[in-house]
Amino acid sequence: MSTVLLTGANGFIAATILRKLLERGHTVVGTVRSESKATFLREQFKAAVDSDKLKFAVVDDITAPGAFDEVLRAYQFDAVLHTSSPFRYNITDIDEELLQPAIQGTTGILHSVHRVAPSVKRVVVTSSFASVVNRTKGTWPGKVYTEADWNPVSYTTTREEGLKDVGSGYYASKTLAEQAAWDFVKEKNPSFTLTTLCPPMVYGPPEQEVPSMVKLNVSNLDIYDIFNGASDPRYGVWVWIDVRDLAEAHVLAMDAAVAANQRYIVSQGNFSPQMFVDYIWKHYPERAAAKGINKHTPGKYYPDEGVYGVDTSKSVKDLGIKYTPIEDMLRDTLKRFEDLEAEGK
Ligand code: NDP
Repeated sequence: MSTVLLTGANGFIAATILRKLLERGHTVVGTVRSESKATFLREQFKAAVDSDKLKFAVVDDITAPGAFDEVLRAYQFDAVLHTSSPFRYNITDIDEELLQPAIQGTTGILHSVHRVAPSVKRVVVTSSFASVVNRTKGTWPGKVYTEADWNPVSYTTTREEGLKDVGSGYYASKTLAEQAAWDFVKEKNPSFTLTTLCPPMVYGPPEQEVPSMVKLNVSNLDIYDIFNGASDPRYGVWVWIDVRDLAEAHVLAMDAAVAANQRYIVSQGNFSPQMFVDYIWKHYPERAAAKGINKHTPGKYYPDEGVYGVDTSKSVKDLGIKYTPIEDMLRDTLKRFEDLEAEGK
């Protein structure tokens, strides 16, 4: 059993990772930006808290030099899972709110592990398909992305473009952070090994605290906004993964010898937001009618010329991930949304 540091423990993806880690018997220390952000998780995982299998540590500014030193010194960690990074578009300064926390948060934790936590054998960084995809190529029919592909963004251009395209700022933050992580490993040759995971759109039942439905995490809002009749489908990324599969990938990557210093695209494959609409109309016809959900073009998922795909064979071969079908994700996610609504969220 390992002792694991999980950064950003209160996030959507991290909360699901947390459940998996505890189910497997690991001991977890989760970092949060303030003590109050741990309250919900302390209640959710009360048995683990009571038996000292789960603790929390406050790291209020991940960009501060040595931000993770104190928590890393306090325990004998075997592995670090670094998920914390901004994923939001309502920002006013790309550099300060997206690029710096993503890049410095990632390099900062690697430096700290290198300096003060020699017991750590593996660091897993939650990167993104954002660091793989070339957005300038659009739908790029026929293209199959692999781990050899990199988003060709640069720090300078992203800063110059600034708020003209906040989406590009987010994509750049993930790309530059992952590149900085690999540069760190090349330069420092640390005693731990690195694994980066590159998930595309991540959907699935939210385990994290949801104070109100409008405050759902960014990716799940893509589904809820349709379910609630608040928005038309948002197109942009054509590949996806279930959050539970991504959590499993983190746990597997933590231990798999073969994953040392490897990068993985983790995805079930292609999807279209039209699938959300069709599923809702099929399984929730009364709600869909009451909410006035636009049917758009049932069954028409992709543009006629097609869209890019992803080669996930490396993740299947090395990590043994079995990807969840989209219908199962939608069944469980919409059920959770209904439960949250019933709780008055
Ligand atoms: P959430 O917004 O639910 O969680 C993000 C976590 O990062 C929270 O704990 C949040 O803390 C923390 N965080 C955000 N900004 C900062 C900051 N400036 N300083 C310190 N901590 C910060 O997002 P997800 O769970 O969806 O995302 C987790 C990771 O997965 C991110 O790295 C994201 O880029 C990546 N990812 C997500 C995808 C998706 O579709 N959801 C797709 C691909 C990658 P707080 O609550 O205090 O803000």
